[in-house]
Amino acid sequence: MNMHDTAAPSVLNRSDTANLVRRVVGPALLPGEEGYQSECATFNTMSTVRPAIAVGATSVADVQAAVRFAAQRDLPIAVLATGHQMVRPAAGAMLINISRINAVHVEPARNLARVGGGSRWWQVLDEAGKYGLAPAGGTPPTVGVVGYHLGGGASPILGRTYGYAADHVQAIEIVTVDGKLHRVTASSEPDLFWALRGGKGNFGVVTYLEFTVFPIKRFYGGGLFFAGEHAAKVLHTWRVWVASLPEEMSSSICFLRQPPLPFVPEPLRGQFVMHVRFSSLRPQEEAERVLAPMRQIAPTVLDTITELPYRKAGSLFIDPPAPVPWVERATMLRDLPGGAVDALLSMLGPDSGTDLGFVELRPLGGALERPPAVPNAVAGRSARWSLFGVGGGRPDLAPVFQEQLSALANALAPWAQEETNPNLLSAAQGSTPEEMRAIYGGERYDRLAAIKKRYDPRNLFRMNHNIAPMANGKLHPQNVRTRRPSTPTTHEISR
Ligand SMILES: Cc1cc2nc3c(=O)[nH]c(=O)nc-3n(C[C@H](O)[C@H](O)[C@H](O)COP(=O)(O)OP(=O)(O)OC[C@H]3O[C@@H](n4cnc5c(N)ncnc54)[C@H](O)[C@@H]3O)c2cc1C
Repeated sequence: MNMHDTAAPSVLNRSDTANLVRRVVGPALLPGEEGYQSECATFNTMSTVRPAIAVGATSVADVQAAVRFAAQRDLPIAVLATGHQMVRPAAGAMLINISRINAVHVEPARNLARVGGGSRWWQVLDEAGKYGLAPAGGTPPTVGVVGYHLGGGASPILGRTYGYAADHVQAIEIVTVDGKLHRVTASSEPDLFWALRGGKGNFGVVTYLEFTVFPIKRFYGGGLFFAGEHAAKVLHTWRVWVASLPEEMSSSICFLRQPPLPFVPEPLRGQFVMHVRFSSLRPQEEAERVLAPMRQIAPTVLDTITELPYRKAGSLFIDPPAPVPWVERATMLRDLPGGAVDALLSMLGPDSGTDLGFVELRPLGGALERPPAVPNAVAGRSARWSLFGVGGGRPDLAPVFQEQLSALANALAPWAQEETNPNLLSAAQGSTPEEMRAIYGGERYDRLAAIKKRYDPRNLFRMNHNIAPMANGKLHPQNVRTRRPSTPTTHEISR
């Protein structure tokens, strides 16, 4: 449990909330009332959210009323867009469900998208696609656009070419804890603009976001699926091959054990396969040449690689189309030598007996490693690899999944780095200020904590991976951490 989650849960009754109910157009619901549960519903059904009150905001004015109500009563505030990463149960809190504020508007003349705080990626893919434009989105089109940007947003297709999605944000409209609406840009409030792009939901409720979309109509991509028995050959070959890809080509690899469910393509149902995902922005002939050695290493169970309109980008990844329960864990690696591949194979290969259904290894690098034109708080930029493990579908197996995810992280520890991007963090990760400081890196966290003190001094926005406000110009004592004896930097190891 988050140390900031320990206050006694508040109990509200109808007379407490009468004024709020009059002010907001959307529902304002107490536990047990009709509609409360659906207001709190999450895409990851393992995350149970049970606030003291849930407001379904329909407008900026609704958000402002809900924030003011919470601030007057000292209620912590949680924000829910889709429920892919609700890491705190929000007991005793005000929950603002932002999903109704989901308009998406694209201005082709400026290559700009303006989206509501509760919009999802599929909406932007569709709207931008009408103009031959592409957003730097993540894998599942069901993921929230704003939550993704607030953590950085590493696009598996465009990231290595253009950098983090947060690097391309132009303006953010946000309601802060005093109920004020700010339009934040690089020139209006530079510190807050820096913090919002990487600091997640720690500074307020984002109502609208504006960001660049790129002139890309089509790309060449899809997946190669190899039977799990070839895992060692596929992974060792892929590790060497992927290092030679130009920045406009990307690939990730996944140990995939899919359930026998209809959303899984027929030859993969109930099977263990190695899924090599590939995408290229270069001409098809060049991409085919580059891909040829991977296509030849073993017979494929399925090969879906073809030319696609960019709005089909989500089809590269087999993600559940509807809410499911899962447990996850993210690790960032500074290096991936052959020994790390052997460690992965022993934990996840055909003889491992693992219950983890999805473990993805993704090389980063390229523009994801370079500093953005306007500096921001995105953490994990120095990592070379991202590892994301998931056990899902069986809530009764959650402790087993947790144990296997921890064992996997321990096996990869010699190559892991502490600084991690917050977007894939689980509820179990970053649950204390000390851990959060390690995740963000000391200097970045301290600056975030100072800005947090300015914009949310009582830390009401703490139902998240929390950045605690700096206390009296000094760091909270728990934010001070003795550094480990020096670990080599990415550049010392990998270059
Ligand atoms: C299968 C899968 C694949 C993914 N792939 C990628 C990937 O390729 N790259 C990547 O970078 N990330 C990826 N993600 C991570 C994803 O970007 C984060 O989980 C993100 O936080 C999801 O946001 P959401 O709005 O959908 O979820 P929610 O659970 O609704 O929100 C998560 C948190 O974001 C904050 N938040 C959301 N909206 C707002 C708002 N309007 N105002 C203030 N705070 C807000 C809140 O703190 C909230 O608690 C993936 C996640 C999953 C499950």
